Order: sequence, then structure tokens, then C-alpha cells
Amino acid sequence: MTSTMQKDTPDTTAPVKIGHWFSGKVVHSQSGRTSPVYNPATGQVSGTLGLADETELNEAVRIASEAFPAWRATPLGRRAEILFKFRALIDEHRDTIASMISAEHGKVPSDALGELARGLENVEFACGIPQLLKGGFSEQAARGVDVYSIRQPLGVVAGITPFNFPAMVPMWMFANAIACGNTFILKPSERDPSVSLFLAELLQRAGLPDGVFTVLHGDKSAVDGLLTHPDVKAVSFVGSTPIAKYVYETGTRAGKRVQALGGAKNHMLVLPDADLDMAADAAVSAAFGSAGERCMAISVVVAVGNVADPLLSAIQKRMPNIRVGPATDDKAEMGPLITKEARDRVEGYVANAAAEGATVVVDGRNHDLGEQGFFTGMSLLDGVKPGMKCYDDEIFGPVLGVARVETYEEGLKLINDNLYGNGTAIFTRDGGVARQFQFDVEVGMVGVNVPIPVPVSYYSFGGWKASLFGDTHMYGPEGVQFYTRGKVVTSRWPDPSTSRIDLGFPQNR
Ligand code: NAD
Repeated sequence: MTSTMQKDTPDTTAPVKIGHWFSGKVVHSQSGRTSPVYNPATGQVSGTLGLADETELNEAVRIASEAFPAWRATPLGRRAEILFKFRALIDEHRDTIASMISAEHGKVPSDALGELARGLENVEFACGIPQLLKGGFSEQAARGVDVYSIRQPLGVVAGITPFNFPAMVPMWMFANAIACGNTFILKPSERDPSVSLFLAELLQRAGLPDGVFTVLHGDKSAVDGLLTHPDVKAVSFVGSTPIAKYVYETGTRAGKRVQALGGAKNHMLVLPDADLDMAADAAVSAAFGSAGERCMAISVVVAVGNVADPLLSAIQKRMPNIRVGPATDDKAEMGPLITKEARDRVEGYVANAAAEGATVVVDGRNHDLGEQGFFTGMSLLDGVKPGMKCYDDEIFGPVLGVARVETYEEGLKLINDNLYGNGTAIFTRDGGVARQFQFDVEVGMVGVNVPIPVPVSYYSFGGWKASLFGDTHMYGPEGVQFYTRGKVVTSRWPDPSTSRIDLGFPQNR
């Protein structure tokens, strides 16, 4: 790998204070509790985030509750108009937003712009809200009686988001939530909180009334407060599996609607007839893009039969050409990890891999990236299998494992036996086998010669098994369903000629 680190250039900028977004302006926390925000490329503290206490949590919910009646009554056309303007503002400020993402997350500009583009799709989908909220209508369901269905917003809804997509994942949630007429409280990750405030400002500039979108910064105590506050009607969560399970159980126990998306261990099954170069390119891109910090990253290549050796060497050959460096280097393709702890944890898996029985083909700890920042190099492990921690755990870093199997059936079983079921991919030229894989595999999102099958915004995103708690996937049509509840109206208009007393149970024939 190529190092682009510039040594001995300390960041001397004083940390910026980061506040909540309440009633259309930044309000700094008075809780006295703070969390440092780092620039992962330098390791320097760039911001100080105020963490909400109970008073601030209650204030956020009060603001969102008060804004709800007027927002709910706002015509669909006006809601769509605001979202169209918001879309245009994001487009205009793409580079600013991407550099805000890079500064706190560390991802390189091409990756930050990609995240933004995929988030923006959800705003574009939500611009169609007048069409999406159409109900059904049955004329003459009984004599003189019409029946129709409508979908209405829930009230105050909350979104709790992870560090790895600080703009896209919030957009997965709030675009549809506010389009449907809810007011929304975003509780972003403490690691990269700033971009949420800029999105709030752009929503305001687009014409969104103050209070419809609130940003509440905090940690576990803010999450717990949202999960139990009686005026919060629904919670969307994206993050790690243990917290997703906790959020689902706590929120549903408090009577809320909850969708909680968790972690992943995504397998890419490569059959002997696959295009080897295409499979190797895809594996390298999907394993090491965003330093492996994607819930749809490929973390295990499952090589079937004699494809294993040539595939492994094709992957290995590509790795030294990937340029690792800070986002300020516009040629860098992979940035640092989010924190020092994350880097040490990821390197720990590589350090233990040989003792677990895997072969360390490339050791990412051997790098010339310098001491600054939270960088690690890319690692490639051969012969990973269940029972090894480097196989079983979600590493969430630039570590690609290769599992060798003899047959398609053995590969399928490995995937289906895995705890997680977020994404998977098959690489083959055989359409029949690909179709069988799509039929058999117990995973929510499947790619056929596509390594990161994140659905476009007019479908919905969600895994199976320990990758999702709840029954509604996120964004797209299921997002609209999640943020609304159905009502069915049975209606008769006064018609003296048909009016009579009838104590029998109403029939419709
Ligand atoms: P995380 O679970 O640590 O944090 C997610 C959110 O939960 C944050 O807002 C955080 O403040 C909050 N939180 C953390 N600990 C908590 C606790 N004990 N109680 C209540 N709330 C708590 O996840 P992360 O490290 O920010 O993100 C990475 C994880 O997210 C990975 O596991 C990744 O696979 C997953 N992820 C999943 C998807 C998906 O769509 N399935 C998408 C992106 C990320």
C-alpha cells in the first residue's frame, strides 16, 4: 500500500463546541458532560460534543411535540416542495458536506460523496410523498357505502444512528419520516456529529418549520430517554447488533414501534466459473472501501473448489496498489479507522489470527503510515472458519478473510449458518445457480455479481437474523409504512330513501 501521511504537521486548531439543534438554532448543552470528537487522520481532538441530560431530552421532545400538529396539517404539496428545495441545497453543498463527513469520520472524498449521493436518493424518493401516501378507495362496498384507507403520521419519531454513515443513515430515516408528517428527533453518533447540524440548517433554509427536525446529541442516557419517553411514538435505530437488540427490546417494552438494524458479516460466494478479475476487483473494493467500516462490506470471500488459489493471489496482487491516506489527499482510496480503540481492536483480530489457525497472507499492521491518526493497513487472512474469532466476529475494519469450501452447497450452508444475514453476493456466470442462490440464501440483501447490494431508495433496506430486530425494513416503501399508521373509513352519506332501523349485524351483500 502507498503511504501519503505527512508527518510532523500537528493540528493546532482549538476544539469546536458542538451543540444540539433546538427550534431552528444551535443550543449548547448545559449538562456538563462532554465527549471528544477526533479527526481520525491526525488523531487530534477537533470538537467537544455536549451530551444531553434529562432536561435537554425533555426539551427536545417538547419542541418536536409542539411542532407536530401544524406540520401534520401542512399540505402534501408543500411538504414535497420543501424536500425538493432541500434536495437542491444538498446538491449545491455536496463538497462542503463531504468534507465535513471526512473531517470527523476519516473517509476519503470519493467515499463521502458516494455516501451523500446514496442518502440523497432517499430525499428524492420522499419528494414523491403525495403519490406515496395515496390510499385505497372502494366505492359501493355496501349500498350507499364507500370504504377507504388512509395513512396518518405517528407523531414524534426518533432516529438513532451509527458513526459509519453520518449523513446517509439519518437521511434513510428523516426524509420519509418528515414527508409523512411526523416530527423527527435525530440522535447522531457521538463520533461524527457535526454534519447533522448542517443538514438541519439546510432543512431550515429549504423552508422546514422550526421544531420539525431536532438534533439531540448524547450517549446511552439520551437513547434510553428516547426509548422510554411517552411522547416518542417510534424509534429507528442503526448500529451494532447488541445495541440494536437492546433498543428493540427496550423500545417495544415501552409500547413503541421500533425498527433496529444491527451488524453484519457479509459473505461473497465465488464459483469456479466466475470472472476472476471481476471477482477480485469486487472483493478488494467491498472489503477495503471505507476501511471496512460498512455494514455491507464484504468480510469473507467463500471460494468454491479450485478458484481459491488464483482468487487469493489476484486479491493479494491488487492490495499494494490501494492508496491509504487522509481525506486531504485527493488520490487516497482508504482512510483511517474511526478511533484508536477501533484500530487496536481490528489489529487484535489480525494479531490472533495465526494462533486461531488462519494464515495471515497480508498483515496490515506492517505499514508505513506513521504514528499520526488511527490508520491501519489492509489485511488478508486465508483459511478462516467458524470457531475462529476472526471469522465469527464482525471486525468492522480492513480485514478480508477467505474461507475455502469444496461445493456450492457447502458455501451456502456456511452463509446460512452465520449469525448475521445483512448482505451477501454470488459471483458466477451461471444464471441458474445464481437464481438458486437467491432462492436458498437466508440473507436480506443479495447481489449477483454485485458485491455491495444496497437497494436503491425505491426498495427497502434490511437484513435478516441478527442484522435486524423488528419486522419493517428501512426507507423506501417500508419506510413510509413504518412512519405511518393505517386508518380505514367506512362512510355513508345521508339518503332518506335508504334509512331504516336494523339491529342486525351490518352486512354488505
Ligand atoms: P453502535 O451500536 O456503537 O452505536 C450506534 C448508536 O447507538 C449511536 O448513536 C450510539 O450513541 C448509540 N449507543 C451506543 N452504545 C449504546 C448503549 N449502550 N445504549 C444505548 N445506545 C447506545 O454502532 P457504531 O459503532 O456507531 O456503528 C457501527 C455498527 O453499526 C456496526 O456494527 C455496523 O455493522 C452497524 N451498522 C449497521 C447498518 C445496517 O444497516 N444494518 C448500517 C450501518 C452500520
